[in-house]
Amino acid sequence: MNNDLKIANSITPEPIAKIAETLGIPDDVLLPYGKNIAKVELSYLEQLEKSKQPGRLILVTAINPTPAGEGKTTVSIGLADGLARSGRKTCLALREPSLGPVFGIKGGATGGGYAQAIPMEDINLHFTGDIHAITTANNLLCAMIDNHIYHGNLLRLDIKSITFKRCMDMNDRALRNIVCGLGERTDGIPRQDGFDISAASEIMAVLCLASGLDDLRRRLDRITIGYNLDGEPVFAKDIGAGGAMAVILKEAIKPNLVQTLEHTPIFMHGGPFANIAHGCNSIIATRMANHLADYTVTEAGFGADLGAEKFLDIKCRAADLWPDAVVLVATARALKYHGGVPRESLTEENVEALAKGAANLRRHIDTLKNIYGLPVVVAVNRFLSDTDAELEEICRQAHSAGVKAVICDVWAKGGEGALELADAVVDSMLTHSSPSHPYDYAAPLMQKITDVATRIYGAERVDFSKAALRKLQMYEAQGYSNLPICIAKTQYSFSDDPKKLGAPEAFVMEVRDVTLNSGAGFIVALCGTIMRMPGLPKRPAAEAIGFDEAGEIVGLF
Ligand code: ADP
Ligand code: MG
Repeated sequence: MNNDLKIANSITPEPIAKIAETLGIPDDVLLPYGKNIAKVELSYLEQLEKSKQPGRLILVTAINPTPAGEGKTTVSIGLADGLARSGRKTCLALREPSLGPVFGIKGGATGGGYAQAIPMEDINLHFTGDIHAITTANNLLCAMIDNHIYHGNLLRLDIKSITFKRCMDMNDRALRNIVCGLGERTDGIPRQDGFDISAASEIMAVLCLASGLDDLRRRLDRITIGYNLDGEPVFAKDIGAGGAMAVILKEAIKPNLVQTLEHTPIFMHGGPFANIAHGCNSIIATRMANHLADYTVTEAGFGADLGAEKFLDIKCRAADLWPDAVVLVATARALKYHGGVPRESLTEENVEALAKGAANLRRHIDTLKNIYGLPVVVAVNRFLSDTDAELEEICRQAHSAGVKAVICDVWAKGGEGALELADAVVDSMLTHSSPSHPYDYAAPLMQKITDVATRIYGAERVDFSKAALRKLQMYEAQGYSNLPICIAKTQYSFSDDPKKLGAPEAFVMEVRDVTLNSGAGFIVALCGTIMRMPGLPKRPAAEAIGFDEAGEIVGLF
């Protein structure tokens, strides 16, 4: 079989104006970026919301992944192609890739095999520059903070309590903790700072949760940057950065239109990670897709404990959305891994280990069905090494948890490999389902964190560090007790320990720190050793990326 890049390059994309036409997007609101990518004017969303009812929304999520990622994007794209092949007007809403994983371990975020988004190199590299704009807006605020301190610090900012960090779209562990302002007197006031990856920046979350340009501006203004010497919060507005940041983001806030290998339209917009941020594409992109198509397929990052929880409890609540069905992606190799099989042996048949690891699948099904009240279909993403006995066992496990499982073969066959899945998902939809959440938004912040940990992760209890407790009390006193929570933890386990696979019981979650994202509108709880600036592995994917003799890009996947 060809690699992803070769497959992607073997298909000629339709001109983007033609893709827009299939959705009924008029020419005058389309902003082409070359031949195969366009942005769409925001004013068009307002028009649509006044004139059209939204279609149905399908959330794609997964079991806890193994280190390679288990194929949510691939299945999302294949499912959308399957829905489109069966005559249903379909659109995808996906996240845009970060350069961190592209050059690190995981690779790009455009799917794989015959279920891909194209043009894959452009999307995986700089795309339309949204992430650069987010990084620039973030770093403008940082520059203005340090400049304010240098020029006399009228706001009396306590330089030891500045919480807003610099960011960059790269895995660079050496920048996690830095000292800025070294040098001559005119080089600034020295202080400790650090970088997060742009996917974890609050500006990314703000852009993804904003309903439009005015809301973006309001959210940027209310970002907490730190505290003054009296311990009172200081906001981006006080530094005077909100207007300029909004202007930097004026194009980035418009959703990007691309297509699948089978020419199904995709809005690909915004890219927060789900382990250290809220993990789903922009509200604007999801709404636009939902108003243009009868079926919208959207993906939330990592496992359902992280991505789906945040999609449902943060994004859906902010956007007044609720999915009509959930697709839970599982693979034989991930379930074997959860059942204790080491990475090197995942291609060998082992039904017994798979059945043991299926505890992970069953816990996710239980959450989605019983806490959120959503219809669930398990999509078994078929790998070449899977055996019939293993695939049957996954279906049996899903049935015993009360849901249907369908084997799909989208990586090898594209939309053709998801026809049965497409029908099963449409059949599963209820005529009406209303939002239901694992916590009461009016409950104390500590209680909300505990509810997610005990009800969704299966923790016995949560231990909060003294610093975390003190800050939670402070946020409540400042009037933030109604905010939802965004837990930052490992994606590999229900717990905060990446080694606890399957469905761990009786574990204690440790909340080591919390931060307030008052612009985005959530409280981040940091659990375990999770880092908001990842590092590169010993052999980063970047080592294999380059041009060949013919001038073609190699090594992107
Ligand atoms: P996720 O969205 O869950 O992180 P992706 O869809 O990005 O996962 O897939 C991760 C990697 O696995 C990609 O490189 C993709 O090509 C590969 N992949 C996904 N499904 C299959 C499959 N059925 N067979 C082989 N490789 C696959
Ligand atoms: Mg993905």
